[in-house]
Amino acid sequence: MALDEMALGGGERPAGELAPNDLEAFWMPFTSNRAFKKRPRIVASAKDMHYYTPDGRAVLDGCSGLWCTNPGHNREPIVAAIQKAAGELDFGPTFQFGHPGAFRLASRIAALAPGDLDHVFFCNSGSEAVDTALKIALAYHNATGNSSRTRLIGRERGYHGVGFGGISVGGMVANRRTFGTMLTGVDHLPTTYDRKNQAFTKGEPEYGAHFADELERLVGLHDASTIAAVIVEPMAGSTGVIPAPQGYLKRLREICDKYGILLIFDEVITGYGRLGYAFAAERYGVQPDLITFAKGITAGAVPMGGVIARKHVHDAFMKGPEHMVELFHGYTYSAHPLACAAGLATLDLYRDEDLFARAKALEPYWADAVMSLKDKPGVLDIRTVGITGAIDLPAREGLPGQRGYEAIERAFHEEGVMIRTAGDTMVMTPPLIISNEQVDELIGKVGRVIEKVM
Ligand code: PLP
Repeated sequence: MALDEMALGGGERPAGELAPNDLEAFWMPFTSNRAFKKRPRIVASAKDMHYYTPDGRAVLDGCSGLWCTNPGHNREPIVAAIQKAAGELDFGPTFQFGHPGAFRLASRIAALAPGDLDHVFFCNSGSEAVDTALKIALAYHNATGNSSRTRLIGRERGYHGVGFGGISVGGMVANRRTFGTMLTGVDHLPTTYDRKNQAFTKGEPEYGAHFADELERLVGLHDASTIAAVIVEPMAGSTGVIPAPQGYLKRLREICDKYGILLIFDEVITGYGRLGYAFAAERYGVQPDLITFAKGITAGAVPMGGVIARKHVHDAFMKGPEHMVELFHGYTYSAHPLACAAGLATLDLYRDEDLFARAKALEPYWADAVMSLKDKPGVLDIRTVGITGAIDLPAREGLPGQRGYEAIERAFHEEGVMIRTAGDTMVMTPPLIISNEQVDELIGKVGRVIEKVM
């Protein structure tokens, strides 16, 4: 079995080498298990910009793990904070009790978020953050005497995780079609992607603000009194880097304000520096009512997600007798002590190394580098915004996604770089500490991969 390929050199088993059964038993998420297990791509350790395979081969990380490790891998202050926390408080309940890290981290996140986004609800992943935000939106309208507002509006080509709320408002057919009935009362705005009018744009396309006007049509169809919230990613990441067109998010905000609809930004990817700001809301000068976050808050080192709520949303719940629970929602591991310690250390690192500003300063160099691949064979479109880049390749006839799969395989095994794919779109989102030389290395290698798979 493919393990022979991993056990280089025989003799001493390298750290991270697996027994055959181990490879079999793990049912991998969002992975073509059979193809993977024939030729596994395994990483055993990581530092800064690199992963290392069990046999010690360095792999340049072109996707921050899974859009998580924004400050790079295994940074000392984060590792030390987790180690210290593990020896102090293994678990601290946050139902009816509390621990200092939870309150400290919430304060820091609230201080970082724009405007009066000033209360933080913790959970453990982006999917949980999305379902939490949708529930807060529904309960908010209930608390303010508008219980008829139950409809939720997402967007085509949106990704909001894998809970039933998230796949219902999400707009990815493969994530929905085999799972039966979705939430009822959900509509979708159209995607903002239009290759004909936007191809090879760096940053936000000029064309496409009018896609927000579809919200007016949905209000006309259902009546504003039935609509609770709109949820969008400021940049759709998982469906292949689709930045909001210029003016689009402002227009969504205006329409939501006009009709009393809550606006939720899903910033699970865009939060914590990916677009050169703490949150994309700041980049676009638009204040949503709720922000979801995950990933970059702990640099991926400990699972954590959360929702930041504006003051008026939070305060709407703070009524009734004081001994009453205000929101019947929460997770055993909400604000886990290890996650809080990792989060605080990660925020310190972003501050101390000014990493959001670094990402902003790097964006033009990065965008030029990614765009330099436009003349490679077959490339249909390239999109970049912040430190993200996506390259659309044509699908092989009858085998959609197969070329993309081959691209990540070749990148990993032959070029020593980790990239991701969404179908036949190659996606790159390296840590924000990437140097100009490493940008050149990554892009050079991806260029070779394109030549090979085309
Ligand atoms: N929302 C967005 C925008 C995401 O990109 C993701 C994951 O990539 C999620 C939600 C789900 O996060 P998780 O995988 O942590 O549940």
